[in-house]
Amino acid sequence: MTESASAPILPPATIGVFGSGQLGRMLGLAARPMGFGFACFSPEAGAPAAQIADFAAVGAYEDADAVCAFVRRVDVVTFEFENVPAQVAAIAAAEGKPVRPGGWVLETAQQRLREKEFLRRAGLPVAPFAAVHSLDELRAGLAAVGAPAILKTAAFGYDGKGQVRIDQPDEAAAAWVAIGAQPAVLEQLVDFSHELSVVAARGVNGQMVHYGAFENSHSRHILDVTVAPARVPPDVAARAAELACTVLQTLDVVGVLCVELFLTQGGALLVNEIAPRPHNSGHLTIEAAITSQFEQQARAVCGLPLGDVRMARPAAMANLLGDLWQNDAAGHQRTPCWARALALPGVKLHLYGKAQPRPGRKMGHLTACADTPDAAESLVRRARAALVEALVE
Ligand code: AMP
Repeated sequence: MTESASAPILPPATIGVFGSGQLGRMLGLAARPMGFGFACFSPEAGAPAAQIADFAAVGAYEDADAVCAFVRRVDVVTFEFENVPAQVAAIAAAEGKPVRPGGWVLETAQQRLREKEFLRRAGLPVAPFAAVHSLDELRAGLAAVGAPAILKTAAFGYDGKGQVRIDQPDEAAAAWVAIGAQPAVLEQLVDFSHELSVVAARGVNGQMVHYGAFENSHSRHILDVTVAPARVPPDVAARAAELACTVLQTLDVVGVLCVELFLTQGGALLVNEIAPRPHNSGHLTIEAAITSQFEQQARAVCGLPLGDVRMARPAAMANLLGDLWQNDAAGHQRTPCWARALALPGVKLHLYGKAQPRPGRKMGHLTACADTPDAAESLVRRARAALVEALVE
């Protein structure tokens, strides 16, 4: 059920995004050179996207009047994260504004249980899982799925938040308390050789494109480094991309979507998560691809032809978390040495304009392009290490 062919939304129309983090900011930065206006709505003032927006509305997502007033000022509505209440999409649609992707996509992606059940129904490969609404169900789930397993809260989970590993069945009660005794998904622990992601896009007319498979490493459940293209056999990358396109089509997404996957030791691909928006692992497309994931999002949501996804060069991205801002002996915060990283040819710096560098908070990223994925990865890791070398006495 592809959206009926509607007229494209052309510059100087204003793209309105719900959410005001770095993903919105980079969407705005990509949309501006094309002549689009850019606006964001979120509960926070002065956030990364607000800093570069034509206008930034501050309000609660639950405040229907505020949402409505914002929607009236923009020409198309999209999202920079999936945990915006789906009611927002309904309000925007009722105002007659294109909402891309649609509210059903948010609803599916913002709740792990719905997401897993959607994936299973669509015939997509997922790790064995069980729905958990009580300690009894958790015990039954452990018997079915087996230990070790991971218990993940169904609602509002990202970057490993709300997750507990269970190694033995007798840890069930403690795990249930640890996640706050709330609806959850129990998932078998996957013995993977690689974590992969595929960023793909689907246009209003059903056209689909993808950037191939990226290879991700995580630290403390947070994405740490992405390398593109993934160092996996071509048939694995092709299968991963096919799975992403199946998700886009089955969910009837208009916009950008990322599928995160595990490649098991046995060579099977399992879908872990979907994110119906640009993704942290796709940031390297800004430098490495002809069309970045953010320009792609602008094109897709505006009903324009999708851009060329060819990657000009291998690339790697390293996240910059707040932990990099160290305290000196006197407890004063020290800023990473940006110039040291920028002195390395091929390295680019992105900072998101966040004032408080808290541990685990995504403050920015570095991208490095090189002749091979290995060279790009070692360059970006060297650049990130250089940021703090001088700070460590
Ligand atoms: P998630 O929030 O589901 O993306 O999980 C964050 C990270 O935790 C993943 O990228 C993996 O590194 C790890 N993880 C999550 N689920 C599993 C699983 N079933 N088996 C092994 N590792 C997992």
